[in-house]
Amino acid sequence: MMAVPDYSAKGLADAVRSGQVSAESAMIGYLERIRATEPEVHALLAQDQDLALSRAQGVDRMPLDQKSHLALAGVPLVVKDNIVTKEFPTTAGSRMLEGFHSPYTATAVERAEAQGAIVLAKSNLDEFGMGSSTEHSAFGPTKNPWDLTRVPGGSSGGSAAAVAVGMAPLALGSDTGGSIRQPAAFCGIVGLKPTYGRVSRYGLIAYASSLDQIGPLARTVEDVGLLLQVISGQDVRDATSGENPVSDYLAELKRPLEGLRVGMPKEYFGQGIDPKVRSVVEKMLTRLATEGVTVIEIEMPHTRYAIATYYLIAPAEASSNLSRYDGIRYGFRAPATDLDSLYRNTRAQGMGEEVQRRILLGTHVLSAGYYDQYYVKAQKVRTLIRRDFDEAFQTVDLVVTPSAPDLPFVLGSRSDDPMQMYLSDICTVTANLAGLPALSVPAGFDDGLPIGMQWIGPAWSEDLLLRAGYMVEQMVERPRWPL
Ligand code: GLN
Repeated sequence: MMAVPDYSAKGLADAVRSGQVSAESAMIGYLERIRATEPEVHALLAQDQDLALSRAQGVDRMPLDQKSHLALAGVPLVVKDNIVTKEFPTTAGSRMLEGFHSPYTATAVERAEAQGAIVLAKSNLDEFGMGSSTEHSAFGPTKNPWDLTRVPGGSSGGSAAAVAVGMAPLALGSDTGGSIRQPAAFCGIVGLKPTYGRVSRYGLIAYASSLDQIGPLARTVEDVGLLLQVISGQDVRDATSGENPVSDYLAELKRPLEGLRVGMPKEYFGQGIDPKVRSVVEKMLTRLATEGVTVIEIEMPHTRYAIATYYLIAPAEASSNLSRYDGIRYGFRAPATDLDSLYRNTRAQGMGEEVQRRILLGTHVLSAGYYDQYYVKAQKVRTLIRRDFDEAFQTVDLVVTPSAPDLPFVLGSRSDDPMQMYLSDICTVTANLAGLPALSVPAGFDDGLPIGMQWIGPAWSEDLLLRAGYMVEQMVERPRWPL
């Protein structure tokens, strides 16, 4: 029998369904892996080992005809802690929600559980999803498993690190400006931000609602497709979820992509991109060209405004979404003498510095007198960024970029420089602004540190993205385990 963390989610579900492996014995293996790695990595917030074990026993006891229909039979799942779950507390990485228990479970989690997945822990994140390193968590940073002195990326750093060390084969993250793809790249795994509306946001703690999407992280492209399949589809509880049919993402996954035309926007390969990152991604494109892929250099001229546009729109929406944390309805409440000081003290003590900065920025750009100058203008540029993609997809099937401009950086090295931190998102925010699906897949390693490449496709083209990712995956030799 294979040692537990070596299973893919697909392999484990197959083995549990056929009775070759019990869900309980697999779960015991993953819990051991957590005990061995979590003290160093700190990927997790709440855990419930007893619950996970009893759920696994529940899967084992199921009648065969029931069990044999479960796509994720007995597969452990880690859930980013800004996605609500009835059984676990949900903090969003903030003191503000310490001790908060949601009365309901998010649709994406509910759908995974209905297919036999077992949530074993909630994972660490930048507070309310705001950050690119997981250092903004109120509960301490997560470490990059490939080098414990470096960040795992963020904001879904806990989910990515947990999967990278084999605490679970699958995780859910959320992506507003890169929070699934950049940590996936930094941790050497695969992550996908679905088309806006592909996955229900019901139960995702809102950061910037016009950009937020829940999506899968896993060690293989196939597993990302498997989890995506389960969580996708319209949900009556999220009016922005799309009614487009969910394709069978695994059916064509391994079929070679003939005649694929890939656009390589020069704006993503120039200034600001670490030459090591550029060279790994370019090398991969050269290899793909020998496999029959046509690589075409293209221009996406509005890319240079993307960070500015994102950091106007996301904080604007955040300032509105986070007004609900008033010390009355949820979680933390600071001592106070009257209503005004209750709001003030609670928000000042309950929210971290970065979150306060975003709320200030967002409130400012929405205020009378500045609204047209900043917010309205950003919305117009957002349209231009979207048009850059529309135009690109007239001539190419997919667009390729690095997933992040640099290698995983050293913990603390950007903490005092918010602008430097915001620039980490330069490759990823455009897909959110345009509402498009994007996949990060490992393209190689430099000095033991993983480097990811990003594939961006037209709306609802997740199946094509996964096929492209699968092709890349076959060409990359990855070291076994980081720890
Ligand atoms: N790093 C970006 C931000 O801080 C993106 C975060 C995310 O996708 N949740 O806003």
